[in-house]
Amino acid sequence: MKQLRSYVAGQWVAGRGKATTLYNPTTEEPIFEASTEGVDLGAAVAHARGKGLPALQELTFAQRGQALQAAANALHARRDELLDLAMVCGGNTRGDAKFDVDGALGTLAFYARLGESLGATRFFVDGQGTQLGRSPKFHGEHLLVPRRGIAVHINAFNFPAWGLWEKAAVALLAGIPVITKPATSTAAVAVRTVEVLVEAGALPEGALQVIAGSATSLTDHLGPQDALAFTGSSDTAATLRAHEAFIRRGARINIEADSLNAAILGADVEEGSETFDLFVREVVVDMTQKAGQKCTAIRRVFVPAARMAAARAALVEALSAIKTGDPSLREVKVGPVATAGQLRDVRAGVERLKRAATPVVGGQGDLRGALTGITGDKGYFISPVLLEAQDAAAADEVHRHEVFGPVATLLPYSGDPAEAARLVGLGDGGLVASIYSDDADVVGGVTLGMAPYNGRVNVGSAKVAEQSLGPGAVLPQLVHGGPGRAGGGEELGGLRGLDLYLQRTAVQGYKPLLEKLAGQGHRVG
Ligand code: NAP
Repeated sequence: MKQLRSYVAGQWVAGRGKATTLYNPTTEEPIFEASTEGVDLGAAVAHARGKGLPALQELTFAQRGQALQAAANALHARRDELLDLAMVCGGNTRGDAKFDVDGALGTLAFYARLGESLGATRFFVDGQGTQLGRSPKFHGEHLLVPRRGIAVHINAFNFPAWGLWEKAAVALLAGIPVITKPATSTAAVAVRTVEVLVEAGALPEGALQVIAGSATSLTDHLGPQDALAFTGSSDTAATLRAHEAFIRRGARINIEADSLNAAILGADVEEGSETFDLFVREVVVDMTQKAGQKCTAIRRVFVPAARMAAARAALVEALSAIKTGDPSLREVKVGPVATAGQLRDVRAGVERLKRAATPVVGGQGDLRGALTGITGDKGYFISPVLLEAQDAAAADEVHRHEVFGPVATLLPYSGDPAEAARLVGLGDGGLVASIYSDDADVVGGVTLGMAPYNGRVNVGSAKVAEQSLGPGAVLPQLVHGGPGRAGGGEELGGLRGLDLYLQRTAVQGYKPLLEKLAGQGHRVG
């Protein structure tokens, strides 16, 4: 069986000893092995510090942007190969694979353009400066300079391509070398993207290394100028947060974790209207795309009690038409979940939700349902499950437990925007919440009411129905992350994403001297 290799200190290295097997989730056939035993993580860190860091920091933002564009071009030339690999390794439909791979390419291209727009500069000047003394000559500025450290990126299994590149593009633009560690179960796609770039020579040596397999001791090497960006479960996040690299040595950490994303149907939205149809379409896409394994997927669907029968009927009809099964078939929209462990977790999670809600679509037996193009009992399949709770405020399990599969729950509310926002808050912090409404008071009330609990709000209305990308798509222009349960982190958002890798330093002194210094940077804000 093919062994996945790590790229460390300029070499592709295979681990020794007992390896983890990676399976095709559609057939359960073993496809790769990965081991990190004997892989020298300390050498990776030393290489990033010794080679990657000086090489990147010598480049201007524009030159780093050009390197990112070269990376995007090299990956684009292998797009079909990457899509095929994602389908086999992740159980993705072709549409799901595009969501991941094209998301990676789009994010890289966005940061490439952003870098080029910053010109021949290497640091930022934050804000407009301020007078500090009696006369204007005593002046203060804030600089944002790249730290002299490295970035470790630990990613979740669900987006092996986008997850790697949405983090790496930002760090590399900041001038920070990256050691990336994809989740082992779906690492093949991530590793392949690094292979492509190493072959193409798109990035300076030492700028990007990849660890294929478990790497729990990587954090031990982090010091005060370094940063860890983590995406994954709250449990792993809690372990990492407690590491002395962060609590004693002052390394930075950014966490993207679980989220019980919400969608709210406004009381003004009539059945059959364009906004109602948008709401139904986006709930269904979010439940089924990537077999529901999206951190941004809608899990809780709040509907005014007076509209519940109509919303339920529309969702039942749309979900019943969706085919689950062999992801290589064009008509199939829901492939398997990624691993046997995920299958177990989703089954257990649906049982938990059933304590507070009743299935109205699927949710019976082993959740496999009727499959298209699959004979026999192989594959980690879950057909979509829609549940409904009678009392939203009392449905504790629905607000507390993220079921990472094609699963969502309908919850009634009175139609009052303040109540909707309060109910969303029971999820203790999320990545994204949607309000579907054409009424400015409803949109304003719900958006402001739930903003403290969410990193992003998606406003779905008739006027943007045609252009809407839905809440599930994470855009490089807007911040990604959320408070509380979602980890409290922030990524992307254009230049905002670079903050993790920059030091904000106040400088006070004689204005003409400071102005000369600031003139060498790129002023923001
Ligand atoms: P996970 O089990 O927490 O694993 C995430 C990553 O952490 C993997 O690369 C894993 O490596 C690594 N890891 C596990 N234990 C570690 C340790 N002690 N030290 C260092 N690294 C460790 O999460 P998952 O099952 O892959 O992902 C599902 C979860 O991610 C869901 O809860 C989902 O909501 C969340 N998620 C959030 C976002 C977001 O942007 N907020 C995006 C996607 C997913 P191995 O694979 O080698 O064990």
